[in-house]
Amino acid sequence: MTIFERIINREIPSNIVYEDDYTIAFLDLSQVTKGHTLVVPKKAFPDLFSLDDETSAHLLKVCVLVATALKKAFNLEGLNLVNNNGTIAGQSVFHFHIHLIPRYPNDDYLMVGVNHQSKYTEYDLNQIKQAIIEAQS
Ligand code: 5GP
Repeated sequence: MTIFERIINREIPSNIVYEDDYTIAFLDLSQVTKGHTLVVPKKAFPDLFSLDDETSAHLLKVCVLVATALKKAFNLEGLNLVNNNGTIAGQSVFHFHIHLIPRYPNDDYLMVGVNHQSKYTEYDLNQIKQAIIEAQS
């Protein structure tokens, strides 16, 4: 079982910003930029190559929904949608996921893959989560 299944099953805590029957979105523990969110199908497909049609279509809809909330919450000028498949491509959790990475002037985007966990406290992450949830209403 991967760490994401444990998050889906509420065995370990995370900052969840969106959830439906098929999908969950939560803040990446290592925020490359403020609001960095992972969109994850609840079914455990290891990577892009194993996704079914229904899941891939629904996931993109959720990406649009959460990206729109991020744009509104943080007044974004832009956002990157990133997905890594295979160790060679930088995948570290083998449960398919899409990274939504908000972009800010002079941000740390080129430091994808570097651990950013010390950038935000639990309190900060909770504030970021609340802003994304509020932007959906
Ligand atoms: P990948 O490298 O597979 O594309 O992305 C995996 C992402 O999962 C990384 O950006 C990493 O920071 C994030 N991650 C790993 N473990 C956890 C965790 O326990 N909680 C959260 N919220 N994110 C995690």
